[in-house]
Amino acid sequence: MRIALFGDIHANLEALEAVLKDASEQGVAEYVCMGDIVGYNADPSACLEIVRAMNCPTVKGNHDEDASGNHSLDSMNPVAAAALEWTRQQLSDEQRQWLARLRMVRQVSDFSVVHSTLDQPANWNYVTNRFDAMSNFSYQFTQICFHGHTHVPRVYMKADKVQEVFTDSVTIEDGAKYFINVGSVGQPRDGDWRACYVIFDLDHQMVVFRRVEYDIAETQRKILAAGLPPMLAERIQEGR
Ligand code: ZN
Repeated sequence: MRIALFGDIHANLEALEAVLKDASEQGVAEYVCMGDIVGYNADPSACLEIVRAMNCPTVKGNHDEDASGNHSLDSMNPVAAAALEWTRQQLSDEQRQWLARLRMVRQVSDFSVVHSTLDQPANWNYVTNRFDAMSNFSYQFTQICFHGHTHVPRVYMKADKVQEVFTDSVTIEDGAKYFINVGSVGQPRDGDWRACYVIFDLDHQMVVFRRVEYDIAETQRKILAAGLPPMLAERIQEGR
């Protein structure tokens, strides 16, 4: 069986649709969403409704939490805050309640899923190197945990020590633990503009990163038409 793990969609409808089409062509049978469905881009309601209709295990991202509440966004960077204020207005109360009720951590099959880290999921810590990953591993009781949040696809592997592995695919080995960042559907930050997600092939114990082209010009047009900060249209082109 093949499971698609996708997240950090950030209201990018064209990227989400392209990823779901690719996953279906790849024979994916199940889906798991890593959160940050909304924020930054111009289609929060449409993306939320697609993910909700899929009825798949979904964890909460920090933008989902911020979009669902009424708290001040003053401590946030101004561009993200402006997009979240706009997002709050686009969503119905009922949609915001759905986001608010998402869980922070889920166990699916025999792996776990979290938006940021297992040690303090509500603190939204960023894992950008193997030292950051060590705290997560102390709280990881499954062999594999998938996560997102940095928008950078990455594999952290713990055998004798914790290593950061740069790869497009990884075969799961007995005796090792894996903390795998599935990258971002709607706003990749590794210099590659294409939508990113992961397919976990359970029969072959193999995790493969997929990159998918989408109609980015249409996404950019919608960002500008919505009056969102223009740099949000620029950054998706550059993959940062
Ligand atoms: Zn995100």
